[in-house]
Amino acid sequence: MSMGAALLPGATTTGGDGLVTLGVMGGGQLGRMFVHAAQAMGYETAVLDPDADSPAGRVSHHHIQSAYQDLQGLAQLAALCKAMTTEFENVPADALATLAATRTVAPSAQAVAIAQDRLAEKAHFVRCGVPCAPFAAIAKMADLEAAPADLLPGILKTARLGYDGKGQVRVADRVQLRQAFAALKEQVCVLEKMLPLALECSVILARGADGAVVDFPVQRNLHRAGILAVTEVFEGNVPAALAAQAVQAARAIAHGLDYVGVLCVEFFVLQDGSLVVNEIAPRPHNSGHYSLDACDQSQFDLQVRTLVGLPLTQPRQHSAAVMLNILGELWGPGSDKTPPWDAVLALPGAHLHLYGKREARPGRKMGHLTLTASSPQAARTSALEAARILGIEAF
Ligand code: ATP
Ligand code: MG
Repeated sequence: MSMGAALLPGATTTGGDGLVTLGVMGGGQLGRMFVHAAQAMGYETAVLDPDADSPAGRVSHHHIQSAYQDLQGLAQLAALCKAMTTEFENVPADALATLAATRTVAPSAQAVAIAQDRLAEKAHFVRCGVPCAPFAAIAKMADLEAAPADLLPGILKTARLGYDGKGQVRVADRVQLRQAFAALKEQVCVLEKMLPLALECSVILARGADGAVVDFPVQRNLHRAGILAVTEVFEGNVPAALAAQAVQAARAIAHGLDYVGVLCVEFFVLQDGSLVVNEIAPRPHNSGHYSLDACDQSQFDLQVRTLVGLPLTQPRQHSAAVMLNILGELWGPGSDKTPPWDAVLALPGAHLHLYGKREARPGRKMGHLTLTASSPQAARTSALEAARILGIEAF
């Protein structure tokens, strides 16, 4: 269904059965922060997630406990909601297509399908004229032998269903490549050349159904063990010319998808200074969480606006920001030690967000901490102090 007139906040639905309800596929932390933003504007919310106790399900007006592809669950969601979005990489695009038969869905199933498949995604980058890492498709054992030698050392990534570095194996040579493909159960994969990275960055933008685009400042990201660890956003975090190039590439990628919603584009900056696109996420992104505390509109506010067809205005960052991801290992080996939040929250400009996950496991994203300040130096100083208190490696 195409976007018609805006679903205004505070409007009561015809028939008088309540306020406008917005739906989200997936009940993780991104869904939780979407729900918070939608509710702040007066919308009701519904979350579809198979888990009985999900971070978003717990704070939403409605929770439909159902598998993503269960037609009955999808029908229930569509019956409740005027418009629906997604928060989780791996919600099947087909489920979004089913919902779109009767309701507004953004982003579209087609855009999500491309983002879900590394091969389709790379084909899209090529179409948009944005360079990505040299790669080869690996669908069967024979493709391993045919893969060009200069892709090694490389990273073998499953084409579908990876996140936070899951479904990826670093390989030095063809022997390791064969072992890795077997370990990944011979799923369709992409072999990517291992690139010499100088830094990583990302661009988050919001695009409306009318094609209007607004964007956030370029985020500089530090990953550890394939998981985002630190995001720094302030003047000078990346060279200005690179930032402009990244924004332009992200806009081209969004336009090429006729994208509606919030989109994140992740980039590598190579040691020779060139910019290479890594991947896209068809939703708000971990690297944009600082926007909750450092910008006059967050990425979740803009997700709501794109979904309901409200005007998009350029977000303004009012504070320098450093975001630290809070992973499960901070709870100690027995997962029973609460991190010293009292000491952390004594730091100026500390904003703690915990996602309400009951179980702390190593590598699990339990929350994030944003340090805001009036200068990049002050934000970094607070963030390094927070990291020291929490036992996070300095950066
Ligand atoms: P997420 O969805 O959490 O962003 P992911 O599991 O989809 O992550 P990628 O973004 O593909 O994984 O890779 C995770 C990290 O691994 C990258 O941010 C980068 O640090 C490193 N990496 C991935 N591909 C390459 C490459 N070709 N060369 C060098 N480093 C890479
Ligand atoms: Mg990534």
